[in-house]
Amino acid sequence: MSNRVSSSKSQPESSEILPEVILQADDVSVSYHGIPALQNISLEIYKNQITSFIGPSGCGKSTFLRCFNRLNDLIPETRMTGKIRFFGQSIRRMNPVEIRRRIGMVFQRPNPFPKSIYDNIAVGLRVNGYRGNLDDRVETSLRHVGLWNEVKNKLKKNALDLSGGQQQRLCIARTIALNPEVILMDEPTAALDPISAGRINDLLMTMRQYYTIILITHNLKQAALITDRVAFFNVEINSRGDRVGKLIEYAPTLDIFVNPTQQTTWDYVIPGSRYSS
Ligand code: ADP
Repeated sequence: MSNRVSSSKSQPESSEILPEVILQADDVSVSYHGIPALQNISLEIYKNQITSFIGPSGCGKSTFLRCFNRLNDLIPETRMTGKIRFFGQSIRRMNPVEIRRRIGMVFQRPNPFPKSIYDNIAVGLRVNGYRGNLDDRVETSLRHVGLWNEVKNKLKKNALDLSGGQQQRLCIARTIALNPEVILMDEPTAALDPISAGRINDLLMTMRQYYTIILITHNLKQAALITDRVAFFNVEINSRGDRVGKLIEYAPTLDIFVNPTQQTTWDYVIPGSRYSS
């Protein structure tokens, strides 16, 4: 794997002033039912950046993403080795419910609860014992995602009546209402039309000042335009013939798209072109 932050090859990055590390994965491997899905992943996620995970389907991006808030714990017969640290503390030693509040998640398909727009946000707050003013928190969360003016007169209406793009912004509002530090996003715009996806992209860029975002995307234009750093994963065949996900290259977004160090990265981001270095 080429992590150009620590590479001596690329001088400019060695003087790059890196923000604070918020999450650190150290030699993480995951298997399902004893079959490896992902092996030996080490990388650091920087605070208030958007980091994207790209790579072909099946290379373990979602599996790796779910490691950060221990969602894989909920999948039977899943085993993770290695370590993930959140602000330096091993997440294994932390309460998983607390981790999932601090590291929220947004999925590919908007998945609002079949409840009112208001309750979609209020329910999570109540469950988490929020003691402040619920109305204010609901409004602030909806304002953050640019949805307030669209829904302020129909807060009691069912959230499932909203458009797909509005539902996804509601799901983001529901996540940020809990005041997370990190938001994991698994292809959040893949199911949306280009206009709605563009609104989410704009939103993510403004959210970066408050949150750290990890974004899985198959949309290379989205990765190129809105992210700070890109991790490219690929599938390799191990000696037992298993298809295993590996981290190939991790670097600032511009480097990945303009001057990748690995042939496979090059083939993925600029298909049909030839690697030259
Ligand atoms: P990606 O997000 O890059 O498409 P995934 O993390 O979804 O990759 O999958 C990586 C590998 O792990 C694939 O071979 C997939 O079939 C396997 N896998 C993912 N989730 C499960 C699961 N719940 N049970 C068994 N195998 C799984």
